[in-house]
Amino acid sequence: MSVVVIGSANLDLVYEVDRIPSPGVTVLSRGFASFTGGKGNNQAIAAARAGADTLFITALGQDEAADRLAEEARNAGITLLDRRVDAPTGTALIFVDRKGENSIVVNSGANAELVDLTEAELAEIAAADVLVLQLETPLATVIAAARAARAADTVVVLNAAPSGAFPVELLSKIDILVVNEHEAAELAGEPAGTGERSLMSVLTVHGCDVVITLGAEGALVGGWGTTPVKIPAFKVEVQDTTGAGDVFVGAFAATLDHTADERSLVAATEFATAAAALAVQRKGAGPSIPTREEVHEFLA
Ligand code: ATP
Repeated sequence: MSVVVIGSANLDLVYEVDRIPSPGVTVLSRGFASFTGGKGNNQAIAAARAGADTLFITALGQDEAADRLAEEARNAGITLLDRRVDAPTGTALIFVDRKGENSIVVNSGANAELVDLTEAELAEIAAADVLVLQLETPLATVIAAARAARAADTVVVLNAAPSGAFPVELLSKIDILVVNEHEAAELAGEPAGTGERSLMSVLTVHGCDVVITLGAEGALVGGWGTTPVKIPAFKVEVQDTTGAGDVFVGAFAATLDHTADERSLVAATEFATAAAALAVQRKGAGPSIPTREEVHEFLA
């Protein structure tokens, strides 16, 4: 299975604080660590660890953060097609307090420069089995990539996250939508708390298949005119759910077969559910992403 991921790469700068500072206040941090992240980067690593031949198209700056992201991506077995642009590599400044509440500031930086796909990038999309997109990349690029994939029979998976940036009528341009409940409600234009089966029927009207992830409840898989199938999550001892959604999307894309029919969708969701269950039992986003062998062992 060959997967192309187009998306963001960020360096996450995480400060542990007693209290998240309000305006005008300076606080001392109890601890600091930096991690590679960004939805595109995390999903590409998850797809590669799940066994897919994975190419990641992204934009990085010309700084140390870029070198670290590139090195870690290559170590994960990814082929990187990175542009080095004249902007800082994307960063996320994250404050986490003692209760686990956080405040985050993202500087898109180089990620905003991932525009005007080149002939070489379009050729990679056309040659892949599956294309994975998210919304931390300019919308025009997401749409152009989806169009190129569709013209070449590459299956288009869109993780419409973060929410708020995708016009619902464009769902007809993709094959499979993966969203959490919050993103599903926002995209469907329904109030928060609307049941997942209602959201499923609103979203599938646009002609794509839909997977709604439901945290500890699992996921609901559906398509136009079919009865949605619920895949329950595994009951596990949770350490850290950060990045569970990205592990799910990468593992899902790596396991789809080229037909992307209902049977393939359900099988990919079952695999992704197991991969995410392993990830939430481990601390940290990047190091927690399981390999294909670990998932098979867990399922055995
Ligand atoms: P995040 O933003 O934390 O990365 P998300 O909101 O995008 O995640 P979720 O629906 O919370 O996505 O989780 C994705 C998948 O991860 C779920 O469908 C489920 O399979 C798995 N998962 C999440 N939380 C748990 C949990 N507590 N126990 C078991 N599996 C979980």
